[in-house]
Amino acid sequence: MARKLRVWVDQQACVGNAMCEAIAPKVFRLNDNRQSEVVDPAADSEEKILEAAENCPVSAIFVEDAETGEQLFP
Ligand code: SF4
Repeated sequence: MARKLRVWVDQQACVGNAMCEAIAPKVFRLNDNRQSEVVDPAADSEEKILEAAENCPVSAIFVEDAETGEQLFP
């Protein structure tokens, strides 16, 4: 079973290029201000979420293990 993740976006840093939404569209969605929001951290695979985080041009995406607090990205 996939582990639970805590995923969040630093909206001060987000520049709204929608890369995360393109990679993991069930997890990230741009709001009306063109800033990414996490809609459901369990909706895409951990692999996709980490890929989105790695491809964010301003490193605005943070991922950790929800149970252990282990930092997975960055
Ligand atoms: S990839 Fe990064 S900068 Fe682009 S919308 Fe997502 S969080 Fe914002």
